[in-house]
Amino acid sequence: MQFNLSGFENSTNGTIKKESISNLAFDVNADRIIQIKDCLFIFNRVNNGALIEIQLTNDEIFNCDRCLCEFTATSINNFYVELIFDNIYSEQTAIPIGELVFKSNPEQVDLSEIIRQHVISTYPMKSLCKESCKGLCSNCGVNLNQHACMC
Ligand SMILES: [Zn+2]
Ligand SMILES: [Zn+2]
Repeated sequence: MQFNLSGFENSTNGTIKKESISNLAFDVNADRIIQIKDCLFIFNRVNNGALIEIQLTNDEIFNCDRCLCEFTATSINNFYVELIFDNIYSEQTAIPIGELVFKSNPEQVDLSEIIRQHVISTYPMKSLCKESCKGLCSNCGVNLNQHACMC
């Protein structure tokens, strides 16, 4: 997910540039791949760089923590990233606190790592195929969503 924004660093504050990608398999880490359906990037030129609004829609396969079945969940993530162009960065630049911030040169803005971190940070503590999932019988192991057991 790399963008060439060369020239954008010379535009005036408030200039907007949009990029989008769709249908991309994206490695989050060694054992997790998400399917990005759509991702819109809105680059908004601000002092020292750009504020990037990212609108990400992706499908991901999880295993239910209760019944172990695979299920696909679609998630929609909107978030902001502050990009500082390193060719106009100076030590005096105040880095905003509490936002995702990274430095890059305008020719090769690679957002993969930022997206990876954001996706990981949004993982639910528990993944359930549905709230009411009955899970597996602890005795015979039958999937209680599909069958009743005699235990
Ligand atoms: Zn389940
Ligand atoms: Zn049972």
